[in-house]
Amino acid sequence: MTAVHVPGLPVIESGQLVSTSPATGVEAGRLPVATEADVREAVGRARAAGEWWAGLGFTGRRERLLRWRALLAKRIEELAELVHVEGGKPVADAIVEIVTAIEHIDWAARNAGRVLGPRRVRSRLILAEFSGHLEYQPYGVVGVIGPWNYPVFTPIGSAAYALAAGNAVVLKPSEYTPAVGQWLVDSFAELVPEQQVFTAVHGLGDVGAALCRSGVDKLAFTGSTATARKVMAACAETLTPVLIEGGGKDAMIVDSDADLDAAAEACVWGGMTNAGQTCIGIERVYAVDAVFDAFVDKVVARAGQLTVGPEGTDIGPITMPGQLDVIRRHIDAAITSGGRAVLGGPGAVQPPYVHPTVLVDVPEESAAVREETFGPTVTISRVRDADEAVTRANAVPYGLGGSVFGRRRAVAIARRLRSGMASINSTLTFAGMSTLPFGGVGDSGFGRIHGEDGLREFGRPSRSPGGGPARCCRR
Ligand code: NDP
Repeated sequence: MTAVHVPGLPVIESGQLVSTSPATGVEAGRLPVATEADVREAVGRARAAGEWWAGLGFTGRRERLLRWRALLAKRIEELAELVHVEGGKPVADAIVEIVTAIEHIDWAARNAGRVLGPRRVRSRLILAEFSGHLEYQPYGVVGVIGPWNYPVFTPIGSAAYALAAGNAVVLKPSEYTPAVGQWLVDSFAELVPEQQVFTAVHGLGDVGAALCRSGVDKLAFTGSTATARKVMAACAETLTPVLIEGGGKDAMIVDSDADLDAAAEACVWGGMTNAGQTCIGIERVYAVDAVFDAFVDKVVARAGQLTVGPEGTDIGPITMPGQLDVIRRHIDAAITSGGRAVLGGPGAVQPPYVHPTVLVDVPEESAAVREETFGPTVTISRVRDADEAVTRANAVPYGLGGSVFGRRRAVAIARRLRSGMASINSTLTFAGMSTLPFGGVGDSGFGRIHGEDGLREFGRPSRSPGGGPARCCRR
């Protein structure tokens, strides 16, 4: 019997995971579903491959990772088209995503040796006759579980850093974007054919759960906070260390001396790129009273120009059909609790699309303000001053990123945000800056990808060889 395809909803047919375009329903990928035994075998093969890969040293790995980066750049259009078909995002957005991932591969490859390689550390008077030696050894096999919204950028944010540190990686891509995940591991295998250093296992959530219990030495998870709790519980059984990149409800603060045109442009880009399906997307704005009306007008004018549809538009379909109900519920809740739609509104949800929606006067208790919406919607609230903006911005359990527009007080305001990252007079930019760590606090998770901290996530501080304690030698 052939399953009925709801566009975008993955199905399992004869042991194969079939992904489809959320816009057209056309088949995008067909990959074998892994059993628990398959996952364990994949991890076993990765363990042997990891030893070989670690043995290449920083220089050997750097050379291969840089060739992989070059391959991605050469075939960027092919990969962007696959991301577009399987996840629905506009090709232009997919190109931006892949360029960012390429930047991270490049930086991780070039800097792993400097950050993780052997170095002497100073001793102090109490042990003056000894010298200290420190280096970061790879864990062995790192399991990476990824979401669908940035199916290239998010797994690479963990995998490239784990690989550069000398680990093998087993990736479990989202069931919505398995073909993109397979493309990544296949392209890597073209340049590293000797051993299965970077592989993928496919299936639904149970395959991710099996990966947590498979004996991996560390698990890097990116996805929703609800699933993160399950991942941590599964990893707790074996004390497998975890890195959690969870959901977000990022706020933008617009102070009285902000450049309102720039702030409005950033609000629309940060809130509505990738149809708002961005973990660090701007979902809430707090604008001080003096600039509130002018700011709202500018946001509405810009967002109202965005085009929506399957091809060549600014906003593509919502990737997960089920998310349409969440977005509708949040818009409805905002309106019934006294909010107003100054653009879009309940009629904006036209499956599989959601038109840009700007909501004002929404009570802070509303789901539209407190929960992750993951659609091209934004709430804008009037606040007395920057202090009130900070208090409200910090009043949700999430703490991923954030943005501040202003001049004199912007840095001081950003410092007070309870979040892992903040952009000043811009938005989302920290994600593309490979030198900065990326990660959240509270319900948004812990641990860091990207930058030096992101490399250290995937190495144990130890002596060489064999992962013993940091070395201390008599002079
Ligand atoms: P989910 O939490 O639904 O899924 C994430 C991954 O976990 C998928 O591969 C999923 O597999 C897998 N999974 C599901 N159940 C289990 C389980 N029991 N054990 C192990 N793995 C499991 O998130 P989405 O894919 O819907 O992604 C969207 C979410 O990701 C949003 O909350 C977003 O904010 C967050 N995100 C966070 C980022 C960050 O860096 N902090 C970046 C990007 C997104 P399957 O798909 O097969 O169910």
